[in-house]
Amino acid sequence: MPLYEYTCQTCHNTFEKLRPVRDMDADAPCTDCGSPSLRQLSVFAAVTVSAGGESSPIAGGGGCCGGGGGGGCACAG
Ligand SMILES: [Zn+2]
Repeated sequence: MPLYEYTCQTCHNTFEKLRPVRDMDADAPCTDCGSPSLRQLSVFAAVTVSAGGESSPIAGGGGCCGGGGGGGCACAG
């Protein structure tokens, strides 16, 4: 299911909600006050709540210098 963003018309609370595509235009209850909220026209699934915390700077790297080097790395040991 895609993630849609809604904004409450009463308290302007913004929240995201997973909904079936056929319900994308239906009002969603505000998570704060329960008022009907309208779907934002922005992209879905673009904003992801950080679940892990810190991210690794180098993906798949074997070393601290990014790999590929045959030495000369200050932290190679
Ligand atoms: Zn609200």
